[in-house]
Amino acid sequence: ANAELYSRVEDQNKEIEVLNASLQEKVIELHEIATHDTLTGLHNFGYFQEELHRRISEYQRCRGELFFSIVILDIDHFKRFNDTYGHEGGNLALKDVAKRFFAQARQMDLVCRYGGEEFVAILPKCHLEGARLFAERVRESIAATPVETDKEPVPVTASLGCAEYMPNELASSFIQRADEALYRSKEGGRNRVEVALQEYLNSEECPDNPADS
Ligand code: GH3
Ligand code: MG
Ligand code: MG
Repeated sequence: ANAELYSRVEDQNKEIEVLNASLQEKVIELHEIATHDTLTGLHNFGYFQEELHRRISEYQRCRGELFFSIVILDIDHFKRFNDTYGHEGGNLALKDVAKRFFAQARQMDLVCRYGGEEFVAILPKCHLEGARLFAERVRESIAATPVETDKEPVPVTASLGCAEYMPNELASSFIQRADEALYRSKEGGRNRVEVALQEYLNSEECPDNPADS
């Protein structure tokens, strides 16, 4: 009877192991779905926000030792593109642009889909000039060859804005500075890169721990 009981427990243990392994797989799968954009395969906006706050916390803790930048990209006249090549063609172009943005990044960088036809990259250990050079490479790689659609290859351009994180800056003002630079790229004629001003912030924008706000 003991031997039989022992063998049954053994079988049940094996079954539990199999179930545990499959549960682990599901957890990984769910995490992948929750943090990635299904169209481009890049990380999504939620993950970008989490990572940005992590980077800001790390920056506050290692005062003077760390630096990092962000680059925001917006495809030029994409509404017109969709109107001409349809939503399906637009989606293929989005995938192609995402691939080119990602291809220019280093392994430690994080490239995300910000939303719609906008993308953003976090560049650790990268000053403003490094971010500008990176953005130029991305811009060039998009403008250099037409993107793939279901009909024909179509020339596309993108505008980019760069900003380097400043001490005590709120995540929202940091993104806003990059956005303003992007806006200047658009105003300046598109297919351009602009960098944000490194202004000193007034005290109202300098809480003790902006990362927790
Ligand atoms: P600008 O050069 O000023 O950026 O012009 P724009 O037309 O790109 O800008 P606008 O913000 O007016 O339009 C963005 C368009 O991007 C709107 C929509 O047609 C398209 N778009 C946004 N998300 C998606 C998407 O997931 N798939 C497709 N196919 N198109 C999208
Ligand atoms: Mg846009
Ligand atoms: Mg656009």
